[in-house]
Amino acid sequence: MSRKLKFGFFSFTGDEGCMIIFLEALNSHFQKWLKSIDFKYSKILREKNEMKGLDIAFVEGAISTKDEVKRIKEVRKNCKVLVAMGACAIDATPSAHRNFFAKKELREINPILKKFNYLDKVYPLSKFVKVDYQVPGCPMDQMKFIELVENFIEKGV
Ligand code: SF4
Repeated sequence: MSRKLKFGFFSFTGDEGCMIIFLEALNSHFQKWLKSIDFKYSKILREKNEMKGLDIAFVEGAISTKDEVKRIKEVRKNCKVLVAMGACAIDATPSAHRNFFAKKELREINPILKKFNYLDKVYPLSKFVKVDYQVPGCPMDQMKFIELVENFIEKGV
């Protein structure tokens, strides 16, 4: 049997709805997938997480802070393939509401943005890193996610 694929799951700015879809997919696929997948990084599955040497990083959420820019670059450095899960990761919406605020509203929230090191706008993952695959939808389409995972298991990365 070939070696297990090393998977990582990461959350950025969003409501973690796509991660719930991942959990729901596990209801029906966990035992089967465990034979082929090593879940090395997933804060909803394990206490100790290892980011180094991932085959595939699955990422939900948009990028909205300077810390997140650093983190997504670190994730990219440690994986062979990066998958954007859901609309926030793909094109930043709906997490990018403030990108469309009027000037007056922006002036009101500016002190908070500065205080917490937020970026001027909310961006999709592709603004900062190469994205190899996308799972569309808000939340992401569960069937498309399952198909993609099964495809990785069958064909490798
Ligand atoms: S795409 Fe939708 S479900 Fe997924 S994190 Fe963003 S808001 Fe939540």
